[in-house]
Amino acid sequence: MFETLSDRLTSVFTSLRGKGRLSEEDIDATAREIRLALLEADVALPVVRAFIARVKERAQGAEVSKALNPAQQVIKIVNDELIDILGGETRELRFAKKPPTVIMLAGLQGSGKTTLAGKLGRWLAAERNTPLLVAADLQRPNAVTQLEVVGERAEVPVFAPEPGNGVGDPVEVARASVEQAERNNHNVVIIDTAGRLGVDSEMMQQAADIRDAVSPDEILFVVDAMIGQDAVNTAQAFLDGVGYDAVALTKLDGDARGGAALSIRHITGRPIMFASTGEKLDDFTLFHPDRMASRILDMGDVLTLIDKAQSTFEEDEVAKMASTLASDEDFTLDDFLQQMGMLRKMGPISNLLGMMPGMSQMKDQVNNVDEKDLDRITAIIRSMTPAERGNPKIINGSRRLRIANGSGTEVSDVNGLVTRFFEAQKMMRQMKSSGMPGMGGAPGA
Ligand code: GDP
Repeated sequence: MFETLSDRLTSVFTSLRGKGRLSEEDIDATAREIRLALLEADVALPVVRAFIARVKERAQGAEVSKALNPAQQVIKIVNDELIDILGGETRELRFAKKPPTVIMLAGLQGSGKTTLAGKLGRWLAAERNTPLLVAADLQRPNAVTQLEVVGERAEVPVFAPEPGNGVGDPVEVARASVEQAERNNHNVVIIDTAGRLGVDSEMMQQAADIRDAVSPDEILFVVDAMIGQDAVNTAQAFLDGVGYDAVALTKLDGDARGGAALSIRHITGRPIMFASTGEKLDDFTLFHPDRMASRILDMGDVLTLIDKAQSTFEEDEVAKMASTLASDEDFTLDDFLQQMGMLRKMGPISNLLGMMPGMSQMKDQVNNVDEKDLDRITAIIRSMTPAERGNPKIINGSRRLRIANGSGTEVSDVNGLVTRFFEAQKMMRQMKSSGMPGMGGAPGA
């Protein structure tokens, strides 16, 4: 996600590198470039205007720091403003004082509501909650069955109208579900409502009726990020028709531009609370504006990586990785192997690569990495001696042949790996020395 914007911003910053100080023209030119980058990312015009005005004001302002060079200053300003435009603080879910907490999902058909209900249920259950999913979408054929399937996969119970009782009334279903939750000690109720392909007044009315019947603690507007600017229009229609407290952005995995994510908060005044990044139940996180900004700037989301790692690994392994990323020691093949092993345990590699520092430059190389590649790389590194792993420069022709034989690969595979490793090492050095945000300050280091 955000590949286009990342690439554009990276080139803006690169053009500032080496400048001693920023002239008025530099600032104007940079602002113009950033403006183009945002427009190309399909960010809504009022948001672009506000963003550029802030960046210019701050770049011209007195906050010229001696500690940062001009490129770093601009990166810092853009980073701060991106965080701001994405909502600033992370918006946590608010629980009701008296359970159950009622969460209502609203949005167009196909926006990912049902999938999100399952993800949210599972996420809450993992935090020791006892959620109940509610099928109040009685419009679409199969919607109830779909939620039941999702509930089963997520291992979260589903409240649905009895089959054969006619069409059923979604408002009654919602009301009854809250009573059921009280009886059965479910502390959270997640109500999936009906959507239409386009905004229509009947659907809005139904959502408003459900809202009035159950007084939700949180109404979440669920929106597909891939629809770009349309997301902003739909968001406004739902704001007027039903109202909501926060936004859940779905299909961020398919959104290369990021316009919806960057516009929605500013336009609606509502924070983004959740991000959905794939079809699987685990492709779901609380939305962190700061981490998202650092991903857009392609400084690598070290924080998210570490967060995700933490739930999968022992603390010391995580600390080791964080300290490798932050230390001044050179990156070795052992580190490479260790990180790869960790990435592998964490989940599909494609999801994780986007979180790694310097991703856009590495994209071409790593796009072609698949599981088999990883097996080969692991075998090759394991066939090296400790001395070779610590100092790959000593790996000459005869060593390469021995390693290839030992790992059941070709010399060309060993050559490819060594080349790739040196590039990664160079990039790690550059990133460490440029003091980019997100690097060098990894927590626990
Ligand atoms: P609903 O009509 O709003 O309930 O939407 P669904 O939950 O049925 O989702 C519509 C389609 O989008 C389904 O095929 C989902 O698998 C898919 N989907 C939902 N969330 C995501 C996501 O974050 N990424 C991707 N790639 N697909 C998603």
